[in-house]
Formats: sequence, structure tokens, C-alpha cells
Amino acid sequence: MYPSEFEYFSAESVEDALSLKAKYEFAEILAGGQSLIPLQKERLAIPDQLIDISEIDELDYIEETADEIRIGAVTTHADVQKSAVVQEHVSLFSECISKIADQLVRNRGTVGGTVVEADPDGDYMPVMKLLNPDVVVTGPDGDRVIPFDEFYFGMFTVDIEEDELLTEVRMPKLPLVADAAGVGSTYKKHTNRSGDYAIVGVAAVVHVDEDETITDARVVVGSVGPLFSSDDAAAAVVGTSLDETALDEAAAAVEDDAMPDQEDREGAYKRAMAGEFTRKALQTAYDRSVEDL
Ligand SMILES: Cc1cc2nc3c(=O)[nH]c(=O)nc-3n(C[C@H](O)[C@H](O)[C@H](O)COP(=O)(O)OP(=O)(O)OC[C@H]3O[C@@H](n4cnc5c(N)ncnc54)[C@H](O)[C@@H]3O)c2cc1C
Repeated sequence: MYPSEFEYFSAESVEDALSLKAKYEFAEILAGGQSLIPLQKERLAIPDQLIDISEIDELDYIEETADEIRIGAVTTHADVQKSAVVQEHVSLFSECISKIADQLVRNRGTVGGTVVEADPDGDYMPVMKLLNPDVVVTGPDGDRVIPFDEFYFGMFTVDIEEDELLTEVRMPKLPLVADAAGVGSTYKKHTNRSGDYAIVGVAAVVHVDEDETITDARVVVGSVGPLFSSDDAAAAVVGTSLDETALDEAAAAVEDDAMPDQEDREGAYKRAMAGEFTRKALQTAYDRSVEDL
């Protein structure tokens, strides 16, 4: 199906986009269009106006500060994936992006559009929940800086008003704890076919001391019911050098915590895969943390 008729505006600045947003009550922001345009084609979104922000240069950047990587809202998945500073300081983010769809989608899809869309099956979600970046939202009264955990209310629902734009995401650099001797991270995605949405997505970060003992771990699971962080899985591996017993306990904890949408065979499969991919994620993160010593 074709989208319904709409007026198109190409915003030249954040100020321009905000004033168009204030003027047109039923306007939608268009960034990469990789979620919005399919919805328009299905007539699940019927905006009267589209305000295209993808050409706003002031929203297209990746900047390094002492403890963060600041990413402008219209920066594409592809640009984040190949960014040297992202690869160096938040490698699980570029790893997660490498698993999104295909190059065509990654060339168009943007950081801001993906965070605002907040698709619970999207690959960003476990990484965002684990790293809890500050999200900057700009409106007529200026900026609001909101930790992701408060910005994300639940599936497809975030803390942004009709007259606001998401303008920046501030990813914390790894390690997440000050006294770590080594840190390793990963995002593991289980699909039937390469490029599909995740059946299960697991983000993990592991910090170790000089003796290769885990001092801090974080595990977040997506696409198996509500996005969740498993404190029990993390507790199972802290204080160990990641032996089989610790991995079994972590996998069992995630299987217990998971709440798949249906408790049928598909739900049981997702639950089992959540455990299995937690094992894989923790092993990779641990191996990388030891290599980092
Ligand atoms: C074929 C296909 C396969 C895909 N596979 C995957 C996958 O495997 N994994 C995955 O994670 N994702 C996948 N996606 C989704 C993709 O990652 C999208 O890029 C992303 O969900 C939306 O980003 P966008 O920039 O295209 O946003 P758009 O579609 O332009 O916008 C999405 C929503 O956010 C709003 N919005 C956009 N930017 C802003 C802003 N700065 N401030 C306020 N509101 C804003 C829009 O109004 C709209 O409501 C896939 C998409 C397609 C088309």
C-alpha cells in the first residue's frame, strides 16, 4: 500500500524542526524512515505532515568527552558502527548495530529514531538498558537530560512530548566501574536467518581484577517478553573465574527471570534460548575482559 497523502518539510535546524512541530499538531518527525515509512504504508501511521530532520547537520556527530561518547540524533547506525571511538570505548554498541537488518537499513536508520521507537525486539534495547546512557530531549523550554532507565517506560513508550525532539544520546565509556583491571562486553543475537529481528538478544559486560576474578557483571535480555536485567545472573558469576557451575547458575537465573509473551512451545523455546545466549554472552565478555588485562 502507498502512504496516505502528507505535506513534507525538510527542517534545516533544531529550531526550525521545533517551530514546525509547534505549528502542526499532527506532524510526525521523519529521521531514517525505517520504522515510520513501513507504518505509513500499512496506514498504521497517518501523519498530515512529515518533518524530515535527517539533513540537520547539528544533529549528525559523534563526539568523545572524558567519560562519554555523545551521539547526535540523526547519526546513522552505519556511522556509529564504523566509529573508531565507539569501537574503542563502547564496543558492544557497534557489535549490536552490526547485527541490525542489512547495510541498507543501517545506512538510513538513526540513533534517535531507534531510541524513540523503543521497539522491544530491537537490538538497541538490551544495550541501552545495560549502559543506561543519558538521553537529551530538546523542546521549547530547552533541554531535558534523562537517564535511559527513566526515559524508557516500556515497549514503544518513552518520555518525550509532542513538541520535543530527541537530540543526543550520551553513551558511558567502558569500564562502568572505576577499579576494574579488565573489562569485556558483547551483544549476542539469536535469529533464524541473518538480518531478522532477534528471537533473543543478550547484552553483557564483565569486569575482572588482576587475578581474572569477576568483580562486577551486568546481563540484560531483550525480545523475550519485557526487557529485563538479571541481577541473579550477574550475582552467579561475580567472585568466580567463570566456571561451568557459574555459567549454569547464570543461565538458570535468566530462564527463571524471563517472562515470554506466551507460555507455549515458542515461549519455552525463547526461555531456553535466553539461558543459552546468556552463557555465550558471559563467556565472550569474560574472555574479552581477560584479554584486556
Ligand atoms: C527491513 C527492516 C529490518 C529491520 N531490522 C531491524 C533489526 O534487525 N534490529 C533492529 O533493532 N531494528 C531493525 N529495523 C529498524 C531500524 O533499526 C530503524 O532504523 C529504527 O527502528 C528507526 O530508526 P529511523 O531513524 O529509521 O526512525 P524513523 O522511522 O524515521 O522514526 C521512528 C519513530 O521515531 C520518531 N523519531 C525519529 N527521530 C526522532 C527524534 N530525533 N526525536 C523525536 N522523534 C523521533 C519518528 O517520528 C517515528 O515515530 C529494521 C527496519 C527495517 C525497515
